Amino acid sequence: MELIDIKGVGEKKLRYLNKLGIYTIKNFLEYYPYSYIDTTKFKKISEITNEGSYSYKLKIISVLENKKLKNIRITKFLAIDEEQNSCTIVYYNNYFITKTIKENEIYEMYGKAKFVGKTVEIQAPTLQSKSKFIGNILPQYHLTDGISNLDLMKFMKNLLDKGSIEETLPSYIIDKLNLISYEEAIKNIHFPKSNELLFKAKKRLAFDEIFYFQLLAMFMKKDNEKYLSFELLDETFEFIKSLPFELTDSQKKVLDDIFLDLKSKKQMNRLIQGDVGCGKTVIALIASFNVIKNGYQVAFMAPTEILAKQHFESSKKLFSKFGIRIKLLVGSLKAKEKLKINQEIENGEVDLVIGTHSLFQEKVIYSNLGLIITDEQHRFGVKQRLLLSKKSDNPDIMVMSATPIPRTVGLVMFCDLDISSIKEMPTGRGKIETYFVSENYEKRYMDFLKKEILKGRQAYIVCPLIDESDNLELQSVSNLYKKLKSKYLQNIEVAFIHGKMKPSEKDEIMKLFETGKVKILISTTVIEVGINVPNANIMVIYNAERFGLSQLHQLRGRIGRGQYDSYCILVSNKSGELLRRRMEIMCSSTDGFYISEQDFLLRGYGDVFGYRQSGEQNFKMVNFQNDFEVLKFSKMFVEKILKEDKNLQKAKNKIINQNLKTIVKSINSDIIMN
Ligand code: ADP
Ligand code: MG
Repeated sequence: MELIDIKGVGEKKLRYLNKLGIYTIKNFLEYYPYSYIDTTKFKKISEITNEGSYSYKLKIISVLENKKLKNIRITKFLAIDEEQNSCTIVYYNNYFITKTIKENEIYEMYGKAKFVGKTVEIQAPTLQSKSKFIGNILPQYHLTDGISNLDLMKFMKNLLDKGSIEETLPSYIIDKLNLISYEEAIKNIHFPKSNELLFKAKKRLAFDEIFYFQLLAMFMKKDNEKYLSFELLDETFEFIKSLPFELTDSQKKVLDDIFLDLKSKKQMNRLIQGDVGCGKTVIALIASFNVIKNGYQVAFMAPTEILAKQHFESSKKLFSKFGIRIKLLVGSLKAKEKLKINQEIENGEVDLVIGTHSLFQEKVIYSNLGLIITDEQHRFGVKQRLLLSKKSDNPDIMVMSATPIPRTVGLVMFCDLDISSIKEMPTGRGKIETYFVSENYEKRYMDFLKKEILKGRQAYIVCPLIDESDNLELQSVSNLYKKLKSKYLQNIEVAFIHGKMKPSEKDEIMKLFETGKVKILISTTVIEVGINVPNANIMVIYNAERFGLSQLHQLRGRIGRGQYDSYCILVSNKSGELLRRRMEIMCSSTDGFYISEQDFLLRGYGDVFGYRQSGEQNFKMVNFQNDFEVLKFSKMFVEKILKEDKNLQKAKNKIINQNLKTIVKSINSDIIMN
């Protein structure tokens, strides 16, 4: 069955479904609601003590008003409930409502109740339709223009009514953990029959999600002894001596872990964790150096082109005296250039390839890949690792992450990785002070910023979105640029940059900023990861409430990289206890581990990896706080299963084997689609 076979879905709606990332029936079933509205309790008018949205059963008495006022048609009805209490119902610009709603009939409806004087007014309620949605717990889906929540509800209902959904777990697990069936879980996640079943559905789906995530991760990890071993070379220590700085003790310790891995015949699968600016890149380059001098290639993957270029430039500098052949492979290169580099990689004429996802496209064939490094790991999930491991059957794998993860979470997330942490910062850095203010202070902080610019420093100004979106009052990059430039920054070189620009444009602007020609860079979160401009010491972040704490911490990590004291100004016009506490954490600490722990405590897992759209690794259903028990059970099962039945051949694991194959298949097609 395909999406187009669902009753109600035509070519047009299909395109909108695609726009939501829904391409297959499986995608659609896994398009979980972000929230629900409870329309099960029909409110009597006497029960309405607070304004809010409710369902009602009302009898229409008469039309009170039906007139046009300044281009708005207002239609008002008088209605009563079973206790004979009256209220009004109002519709705006609904020309046909008097045809739909008839006097003396009783209607079920759902909508917002407001107090107008002493009467209750129900505003533009949705009437019960043939689908009989009102009276149930209803799903709320993320939408795009062209498709409504009602559309999605209808399609989903038609789909669920139609067929059966195959089980994804063997009964011995389901029974042991007292889970509901997959089918029941899917049905109740979209249309919960009760709150209790919704809870059980979430638990079941969270289990599935984490179970298969862990299984896949462990499955990919190969524990045999047939891997490469790289000798530790004297030349590597000469390279370390040639660095313009002394490694910190923490860096040295992590390097010890890495050297052991490189030497051993087991595959290295190591996560290098450390706060922004602690110096992970140089560690990666030292490891690369040793592997290359053993005669192997290294692929170094960054999440963005800007970062890839930055790594390319800095490695060229550090490696210049050591005869290492480095190439940059990114999407924006001309086809001819790419082809040439691919050939060089295949012929072994390149030692170090730095790039983005393009490093692992079908076309790239490595002659003897010894080590894969991925930077800012949280952007690359298990999916990518799956793809990487296909490139060569025996490379070591090193991933680097600046998102400090609470240990408890890390153990589950990276169940297949060993973890090393860099815990101290290089010395000689200025301190970072952070302030939380409302936009009313704009003149003050802009004056301050200007003063620092006149002293020769540079600044970042960050805001969340590119274009003013209609319902979220977010600062857009271009509007912010116009406003700040004309109000405060007339004689200062300001540039703006955002994710939708062409890579070449972004590069040009980044170059200007790096070389100091541009003093102030206004941007979306494209500057989030890795950018290194030590002269920049001020960051202003607008709509700070929109960011997760870990993301704010990452952003802030762009400053405080040089010898100057740095200042981070978090701007928000929102208020509230939670926001205040979150911002307090930012103002009082620059310790990423502490911040992420606190963030985790305050908001749960969702924020640890920043916003949903940014990561592959975000789980749809798992919440690390609520589901921690589930996670532990899952890990226990995964370990037991793989120990007893390494290749999933036993009859009792047949379902698991099949489902894992389906998942791998859909991951592969996802990757092709992206
Ligand atoms: P991150 O961990 O965020 O990737 P980088 O590797 O980009 O950090 O390092 C930030 C800056 O610190 C770079 O300019 C790098 O050369 C420098 N650096 C790294 N290690 C040291 C050190 N031990 N002493 C001084 N500077 C260092
Ligand atoms: Mg980095």
